[in-house]
Amino acid sequence: MSFRLRLTLIYTGFFALALLLLGWGIYFSVRQSLYTGVQRDLWAATHQVRRIFSAGGLEPIRTPTGELRLFLRSEFIQIFNNPNLVAQVFRTDGDMLDSTPNLGGRVLPIPEAALNMTGDDVSTGYSVVREVDNTRIESLITPLVIDGSTQVVGFLQISRPLRDVDRTLGMLTGILVGGGAIALLITGAGTALIAGRVLKPVDQITHTAQGIVHAEDLAQRVPVPLHHDELHRLTVTINDLLARLEALFTAQRRFVADVSHELRTPLAAMQGNLEILQRGGLACPEIAAETVTDMRRETARLIRMVNDLLLLAQSDAFAQQHREPVELDTLLLEVYRELRPLAGDVGLRIGAEDQVTVCGDRDRLKQALLNLGVNALQYTPPGGTVTLALECHEELACLSIADTGVGIAEADLPHIFERFYRADRARTRHSGGAGLGLSIVKRVAEAHQGHATVASIAGQGSTFAIWLPLNGTEPHE
Ligand code: ADP
Repeated sequence: MSFRLRLTLIYTGFFALALLLLGWGIYFSVRQSLYTGVQRDLWAATHQVRRIFSAGGLEPIRTPTGELRLFLRSEFIQIFNNPNLVAQVFRTDGDMLDSTPNLGGRVLPIPEAALNMTGDDVSTGYSVVREVDNTRIESLITPLVIDGSTQVVGFLQISRPLRDVDRTLGMLTGILVGGGAIALLITGAGTALIAGRVLKPVDQITHTAQGIVHAEDLAQRVPVPLHHDELHRLTVTINDLLARLEALFTAQRRFVADVSHELRTPLAAMQGNLEILQRGGLACPEIAAETVTDMRRETARLIRMVNDLLLLAQSDAFAQQHREPVELDTLLLEVYRELRPLAGDVGLRIGAEDQVTVCGDRDRLKQALLNLGVNALQYTPPGGTVTLALECHEELACLSIADTGVGIAEADLPHIFERFYRADRARTRHSGGAGLGLSIVKRVAEAHQGHATVASIAGQGSTFAIWLPLNGTEPHE
């Protein structure tokens, strides 16, 4: 079942329930008010007839035995004249004595149960609804008593046909059912129409998403609706998601291509060397030694590259897991000591050295600094200087390595932190770098919620820096 149909059915269902409750309420309050009206009529007539009888309808008569008894002058009922109501007088045994002429000579019997009423039931009476000749009739029966006593001398039955009440209720039922059905139809159609309109953009999103899946083309985007509503936000979010996925897949594809490309060169070199050995190189000790040295260099390059890749992949996870206070000044000194043997004729020195502790992964931070230091020494000719420094700038600690080396061309600067990017391919390949060192630096800085920067002028030197947030840790004493 489609969402649109479900929405229509649910909405119409709730509306039907509300209509039903409303209709039920209207019907029963109207019905109640009509029946109360009927009861009021019956009681008004009862009181009227009683007044007639009080004014002479009960005549005292002396029996042959000399006893004084009251005689009901039933013909007094004729005085009562109301075309809508029928009045009847019954003896205490249930025989009808007289009735108003509009009964047409028929007898509407008094119910058996009413005969049990006593003088105490004058004010409550007995009500009954019966069907006579396809007409419902409501009757009110009350006992007739002598004024000032509770002696029952007969029964008075006032009846009223319910034709008008039934007609009114029938009409009301028709209006409620017919009107309700029309209202439901209009609501159902309206809901289906609105649901269709509202869900149209969702359909569009689905179609576009299907198109993307079928075409395997993440460059496609979902058309953004004009109104700034929930669907607009959904579409924009989906498009953002697609853009991120596209970037991720592109990066992954490029990464695989780059890795394959980088692996191919040393592997091809090793294959070539193996062929040299196979074709008789082993017989000549000089060629053999040279070939093995080459192969060892290529193998070392491969191992370094694989290690770097692993480091790159693990940077984020490690930085999350190994968080400890790191004294950056101590770390800088340690890096300085490790770099000193590699410095040769390059002057290696320590500049500003504030005392700062940050929370992070000591080993990764050291690796990043070593990468920068080795690069600086590598790209600085003899006689140049490499300066390591640590400064505290408000909320950030800045670890910097400045050199007076070859510098980096302006065109290369924006790409320098990219994976496998080498500014001077020929020279750096010779030096063995795969272009992963700086991307590790960047990743380590970012894993510590910091960032890495570079400033360089070709021919004059470069300054690389790692900026780390202090995260509430104070410069220590
Ligand atoms: P690699 O392992 O090739 O050195 P990196 O990612 O460490 O890779 O460096 C990328 C490129 O940035 C290098 O090939 C080099 O051209 C350039 N580079 C890095 N550091 C310096 C520096 N201190 N001076 C000049 N160029 C540098």
